Amino acid sequence: MGWEFSTDPEFQAKLDWVDAFVREEVEPLDLLWGDRTFHPLDDKLRKIVDPLKQRVRDEKLWACHLGPELGGEGYGQVRLSLMNEILGRSRWAPIIFGCQAPDTGNAEIIAHYGTDEQKERYLRPLLDGEIFSSYSMTEPQGGSDPTRFETRARRDGDEWVIDGWKFFSSNARTSSFLIVMAVTDPDVSAYQGMSMFLVPTDTPGVDIVRNIGLMGEHFGDGHEGMHALIHYNEVRVPAQSLLGGEGQAFAIAQTRLGGGRIHHAMRTVGVCQKALDMMCERALSRQTQGSILADKQSVQNYIADSYAQLMQFRLFVLYVAWEIDQYQDYRKVRHDIAAVKVLTAQVLHDIVQRSIQVHGALGVSNELPLGGYWMMVPVMGLVDGPSEVHRVTVARQILKRYQAAPGAWPTEHLPEKLAAARAKFAEHLEHEVANQ
Ligand SMILES: Cc1cc2nc3c(=O)[nH]c(=O)nc-3n(C[C@H](O)[C@H](O)[C@H](O)COP(=O)(O)OP(=O)(O)OC[C@H]3O[C@@H](n4cnc5c(N)ncnc54)[C@H](O)[C@@H]3O)c2cc1C
Repeated sequence: MGWEFSTDPEFQAKLDWVDAFVREEVEPLDLLWGDRTFHPLDDKLRKIVDPLKQRVRDEKLWACHLGPELGGEGYGQVRLSLMNEILGRSRWAPIIFGCQAPDTGNAEIIAHYGTDEQKERYLRPLLDGEIFSSYSMTEPQGGSDPTRFETRARRDGDEWVIDGWKFFSSNARTSSFLIVMAVTDPDVSAYQGMSMFLVPTDTPGVDIVRNIGLMGEHFGDGHEGMHALIHYNEVRVPAQSLLGGEGQAFAIAQTRLGGGRIHHAMRTVGVCQKALDMMCERALSRQTQGSILADKQSVQNYIADSYAQLMQFRLFVLYVAWEIDQYQDYRKVRHDIAAVKVLTAQVLHDIVQRSIQVHGALGVSNELPLGGYWMMVPVMGLVDGPSEVHRVTVARQILKRYQAAPGAWPTEHLPEKLAAARAKFAEHLEHEVANQ
């Protein structure tokens, strides 16, 4: 009999170590540098970050999203999920543990589709935490609809020449290379006519026009966000820069985004738990109108509803992680990943909103992390595809089951079906009437 909900003691000991380490050593970095972008070559930050990374390696907890052949521990998605719940509490923890987006997904596709040469040049230093990467797919005129992409790559002798604009390429400025998606064959559908390229960020013609900040972040005065608007202006790369086969970009993107989506959800469980912890601590410590907040019924409702939502969400995330471990194929659990993706923004919204409300004015201040969590709500509804598109994926897959096996409720030929049901149970019905 399956359906086991406990964690084996050996891994629980690791989780306990992660929990204490994140609370004591990593969360203080959020207070110091919550809004800083980590640059791997920034010597000042590295003096603090590198020894912490080493302690994670010593505990065999580095890059746990990867299998042992790639330098990870191969713990699988369920254990990764339990770990990510803790790492989600801190902005810096995924960096210290070598599993931050977008590098995780980028590493995954190079490992999957890269040549030996590409792995040596890009994957190895990425996994060692020596360099960062960026994923450059979305364009100003279209993100969720690949048929709108205009960036082109044309073959010229031994080179590819890339031309076009990309938007929201996160971390491009601190990256060493970009994974660029471009149309290579405009005569076929976008799903077959796009390819991916590995492009060093310092290649002539890669023009990072500006970085775009998110709402609530400073604007102007030298402040900038981390999501780049990039003009690829006649960017020439050698033929060997193609990642995977020509025309394979869409399939590769699905591999990358499947993992990325569920990893975001795992970390969001941690964010929601932290918002709920803060809500409870505040409810127990704040006195108003004759009692602590915890004694007010509406605050109790906030806590109960948040706990119930979080438990549902967490179990669903763990279930999907278990499914991925079983099938080893994101495509087989696409609809469940999509359903979790939709829930991620919704549950985050509900729990963070209640936590802010219980904190009063302090909740909307920049002295607590709740404002940052609140800003993540719309981000989670958009990154790796808008919620609406994921709902379509879920509905289509669910409807397929009914198309394959119709008749759950007899709306067709109802009188005949009713008569058949009566005949089936005639003896019992007669008995019942006789006893009335
Ligand atoms: C913080 C952040 C980081 C990001 N990082 C990256 C990155 O590193 N690399 C990268 O390439 N991209 C990145 N993105 C871009 C992200 O992938 C896109 O925002 C996303 O795919 C949606 O594309 P869009 O913004 O063009 O919105 P659109 O595609 O224009 O969609 C806008 C809205 O239209 C509606 N809509 C769209 N399609 C449908 C539909 N089929 N049915 C119903 N309604 C629909 C939805 O309401 C949707 O939210 C990032 C975005 C954010 C916010």
